[in-house]
Amino acid sequence: PYDGPTADEIARKRAEFLSPSLFHFYSKPLNIVEGKRQYLYDEHGRRYLDAFAGIATVCCGHSHPDIVDAMIAQARRLQHPTVLYLNHVITDFAEALASKMPGDLNARTLVVIFFTNSGTEANELAIMMARLYTGSHDIISLRNSYHGNAAATMGATAQKNWKFNVIQSGVHHAVNPDPYRGVFGSDAEKYARDVKEIIEFGTTGNVAGFISESIQGVGGIVEVSPGYMPLAYDLVRKAGGLCIADEVQAGFARVGSHFWGFETHGVIPDIVTMAKGIGNGIPLGAVVTTPEIAQVMTRRNTFGGNPFCTDGGLAVLKVLEKERLQENAFVVGSYLKDSLCDLQKKHEIIGDVRGTGFMLGVELVTDRQLKTPAKDEVCRAMEHMKDMGVLVGKGGFYGNVFRITPPLCFTKEDSDFFVDVMDVALSKL
Ligand code: PMP
Repeated sequence: PYDGPTADEIARKRAEFLSPSLFHFYSKPLNIVEGKRQYLYDEHGRRYLDAFAGIATVCCGHSHPDIVDAMIAQARRLQHPTVLYLNHVITDFAEALASKMPGDLNARTLVVIFFTNSGTEANELAIMMARLYTGSHDIISLRNSYHGNAAATMGATAQKNWKFNVIQSGVHHAVNPDPYRGVFGSDAEKYARDVKEIIEFGTTGNVAGFISESIQGVGGIVEVSPGYMPLAYDLVRKAGGLCIADEVQAGFARVGSHFWGFETHGVIPDIVTMAKGIGNGIPLGAVVTTPEIAQVMTRRNTFGGNPFCTDGGLAVLKVLEKERLQENAFVVGSYLKDSLCDLQKKHEIIGDVRGTGFMLGVELVTDRQLKTPAKDEVCRAMEHMKDMGVLVGKGGFYGNVFRITPPLCFTKEDSDFFVDVMDVALSKL
């Protein structure tokens, strides 16, 4: 049994000592003391089904024994950063990770890996590499995207909720190819025309690159219109730019049909960034690129990639394979999405159900025609769901989208329970 400080004591200390930017979803924040697979436990031993997984982070399930054991063993052996000396742990993981990248298409071999400690850091590095490699400064990203909270990545991020008024130069935000709320519906060609116009009217005609999530996570699980990515990639490459895929949320088998989100769009990026799922919750991120592009970074040494974290990363890849979690994300994710679509027929308030695999979104609107965001309703439903033992995320520019990104070991029974609980919660509104 838990005998640590109470939730109230922790909340008081958090308010006193931690960043005021920290937030929580519930009227009374949960004190989570333990995690196992797809479950979290509070200080009273109450179990919650976790359908958010630390914001799409814990892909293999909480405290997976294989990953924990590997990391404990490595921590006992060596924890020293490996920039100055040889050590096989970082190279073993780099080789295994490189083998997960798509093959040598269009002479683009994504094999060189830079390890970082977060997604922000990975995207900062990727944007800097694109700028150095091309000699251009302009970056194009999509409206409603989230890429991080440092200078370049906050620039690339395009939601006012996540920006400060500091210098974020050289970023242009293209019209979001959002099939539900976007001005052109699902018309990829019309959206791509905006990228062309940004290049023609907003830059010298040359750009450093284009950065995009495959499915927007923080932005409310927005699936980019089919056919858009190949068009945008083409335009950007013609303007001399590199294409960066931000796989921080969509990567690592989460989309089910593929290991990487960009594969669902039929494109091969020049640079891929990742974090979250790569380490099942430990501070680990990476940038993967071609040997040629990597040459621009020969002067950089980093703290990233210490053996403790890279050994954890290798264990994650092994668990994904051993437990066939990508297949599970595909099979159970599709089942869950179908059930959510059925729920939409019953509840007028559900305006849209979308996503792939275990990256699903349910958008609430008070009027289906006007698509009026039902923000308060999402908050209230989340509270009811928590009371019934289910944790779910929320997001979207208007804060009216449930984000369903469970650990990839989520089962059909979990999905049934989840949908039943959401059904009751929506009925109570
Ligand atoms: N890219 C995406 C798509 C993200 O969702 C996030 C984090 N939510 C980041 C980058 C930044 O990652 P981190 O919080 O690890 O800096």
